[in-house]
Amino acid sequence: TGTTMRAANDVMAPNDLSSWWMPFTANRAFKQNPRMIVGAKDMHYTTPDGRQVIDGIAGLWSCNAGHARDPIVAAIQRQAAELDYSPAFQFGHPHGFAAAARIAQMAPGDLDHVFFTNSGSEAIDTALKIALAYWNVSGQGQKTRLIGRERGYHGVGFGGISVGGIVSNRKFFGTLLAGVDHMPHTYSREHQAFTKGEPDWGAHLADDLERIVALHDASTIAAVVVEPMAGSTGVLPPPKGYLKRLREICDKHGILLVFDEVISGFGRLGFAFAAERYGVVPDMITFAKAVNSGTVPMGGVIVRSHVHDAFMKGPEHVIELFHGYTYSGHPLACAAALATLDVYRDENLFERVRTLEPIWADAMMSLRELPNVLDIRTVGLVGAIDLASREDGVGKRAFEAMDRAFREHDVVIRITADTIALTPPLIISEDQIGEIVDKVGRVIRAVA
Ligand code: PLP
Repeated sequence: TGTTMRAANDVMAPNDLSSWWMPFTANRAFKQNPRMIVGAKDMHYTTPDGRQVIDGIAGLWSCNAGHARDPIVAAIQRQAAELDYSPAFQFGHPHGFAAAARIAQMAPGDLDHVFFTNSGSEAIDTALKIALAYWNVSGQGQKTRLIGRERGYHGVGFGGISVGGIVSNRKFFGTLLAGVDHMPHTYSREHQAFTKGEPDWGAHLADDLERIVALHDASTIAAVVVEPMAGSTGVLPPPKGYLKRLREICDKHGILLVFDEVISGFGRLGFAFAAERYGVVPDMITFAKAVNSGTVPMGGVIVRSHVHDAFMKGPEHVIELFHGYTYSGHPLACAAALATLDVYRDENLFERVRTLEPIWADAMMSLRELPNVLDIRTVGLVGAIDLASREDGVGKRAFEAMDRAFREHDVVIRITADTIALTPPLIISEDQIGEIVDKVGRVIRAVA
């Protein structure tokens, strides 16, 4: 490791990329031919050579207010100068309580209590731990099994990969993934291809939970966790009626229902939470990302009163839940969240998604005749395009599409296997919808 200070120029054109082992990245391919970003404002990134690249995926489904928005930047700067940090355990600060109250107020029903984390992965692990501890404090400590779903993504903690349903995220990580079961995913190309919004087919797949209950018995099951809309595995909107059916089965058997809204929270589907769009109140909601438009790491779990209150017993000097992070409710993250939620409200961004949804869906569907397009799905301000895989390997076509989109067409897209996902910031204009879809169309032709 060198000790010399690097010139500022090196930051703009770095020549040593070896130290950073990059997350969820093809490291060797990247380092041979980097996709470098040095600036961002509103809908665009800036590259080291000064190109403006339109952001088709809101950071990583996170920057819903757009990038480097003035009121959010100012709030973070102010907070850093006023109170950079205070201990998260046994002490509090006003912005933490204000942010929690604000988020709770946006959540449906009696989802009234917020436990802060720093990421979606931590939010999921926190929710799973609260579920297990809840049954313990309620005298039913034998309820330990957790039920997830195939094609679910819940981050990368041990809890999250256990209930998650993605083989590559699970197969190398050993035996700590026990004690879970999985429902089937809800996608069927045969029954759902080219659907705008929630598919008509598939609500019956929720009944598979009855099979799992019959197999393990409800007395062993703590919680069911699903993304209302599976995002990371290719945008799978829930079939009509599916989530209501899950809620009914959980109620019938005394099982907690957790919605992972790390992607769907804060406007992506036109509402503060997907729970509102689908008229279902889960027992917990996990969130992260767009809570502060991706500016400062933050996540959390919103918990219904009956779950929270079950812990508030016993001697009052005793910690009720042995769980928390040094940076739970970090002052900068909370200040950024309050400023972001103001932007969402003042600019009516959630309603804006509802207005844009049909325009977005039509624009996306205009790509259906392009080469190799097998399916297109849209919901809210989200869209996915399945491409046929190349004969020489799954994921090659989409990888090339992502790379060429950035280098040659000035648009950032996201890929999983051979699916392209698009989730632009909610401030996107109708013209920019046209621009992104047009660019993606050219990319799809280029990788034919
Ligand atoms: N849950 C869902 C539904 C997600 O989409 C993600 C990230 O994309 C996570 C959890 C993990 O969040 P993080 O990467 O902040 O740990």
